[in-house]
Amino acid sequence: MAAGSPSRPERPIYLDHHATTPLDERVLDAMLPYLREDFGNAASRTHVYGWRAEAAVEDARERLAERLGARDPREIVFTSGATESNNLAILGLADAQSKRRHLVTLETEHPSVLDPCRVLAERGFELTVLSVDSNGLVSPDAVEAALRDDTFLVSVMAANNEIGVLQPIREIASACRERGVVFHSDVAQAAGKVPLHADRDGLDLLSLSGHKIYGPKGVGLLRLRDGGRPRVHLAPRQYGGGHERGLRSGTLPVASIVGLARAFELCLDEMEVEAARLIDLRDRLRKELEAALPGRVLLNGDETRRLPGNLNLSFNGVDGDRLVADLGGIAVSSGAACSSAKPGPSPVLLALGREPELANASLRFGLGRGNTPDDVGAAVRCVCAAVASQESAN
Ligand code: PMP
Repeated sequence: MAAGSPSRPERPIYLDHHATTPLDERVLDAMLPYLREDFGNAASRTHVYGWRAEAAVEDARERLAERLGARDPREIVFTSGATESNNLAILGLADAQSKRRHLVTLETEHPSVLDPCRVLAERGFELTVLSVDSNGLVSPDAVEAALRDDTFLVSVMAANNEIGVLQPIREIASACRERGVVFHSDVAQAAGKVPLHADRDGLDLLSLSGHKIYGPKGVGLLRLRDGGRPRVHLAPRQYGGGHERGLRSGTLPVASIVGLARAFELCLDEMEVEAARLIDLRDRLRKELEAALPGRVLLNGDETRRLPGNLNLSFNGVDGDRLVADLGGIAVSSGAACSSAKPGPSPVLLALGREPELANASLRFGLGRGNTPDDVGAAVRCVCAAVASQESAN
């Protein structure tokens, strides 16, 4: 993925696929007709421009519903991304009912889940924020124990955006189902990377974003289960022309929706092979760093229950701020891109019990489709050079 020679890359090697992914060429090809000749508004009912756009959107909706494991395409609501889907799911569910006052989430959730939950708490709802163990996991028993007669929602992400750990969402969903509680899962990082099935896994509400799966930015979806118990009824967050069954007014971004469907299909079609390839690269990266910096590399998050492309490491005795600044040859992050406006050690790493200093001296490697074994070698050299330069300066 590096442009230019390995020693002086024009651009750093991209190892930040949790922040975003490049648009796959095949996705772009699928989108282009809808940016050119088929540019119509999917809500135009009087001419072929509208009909063609609407047909493309409905085709994408059907394919997405099928591949997500949702029974009915009408269960898919297109949004601008997982942030909007999470807000619509949490605030929309709270606003659509008045009897139940309690909701449950995790301390390591993405801010687009935690913040709407906190807004509800400010509005008088009761919020339980569960902690995770030192591997970053919550136990289904802990979630079950937190459920009350007035709990209306549990929101637990499928995969964490910093440490990549995979939460036991199936078990949590089934505990929720038994108690008549709606279960929401933010699958922005898990979608297309690990197997998921909305109906079989009990994901009543599910949020995802196109740009995490080699699709376009600014498009995503919310799946909301139709029929069955507990009932999933949402109040809209924005009003207008009544698009998306009144749940999300606004002209649909047709090309982006077509791209979202294509991107998701490609991820699923290639998942098994790609996951094995990424696990191999990821394990190689970890082993080589551990060998080069003995006793100084600590893994954050569970060893095995994690996304194939995720490696999050803390470096003992290293100045975290300087480490990232010195890593010119690779594009990695020290935490989540979405919270990088907030300085200080990652709250997710602190939640695992990491000391603030170690949490600060951490790198999130996010390997993806374009990465090769050469990229791994280059990353190891970059990190070792950055650590060595600190040591020679001390
Ligand atoms: N949830 C998770 C787990 C994420 O990683 C992200 C992206 N950082 C989001 C939600 C938000 O996605 P978007 O910015 O596309 O709305």
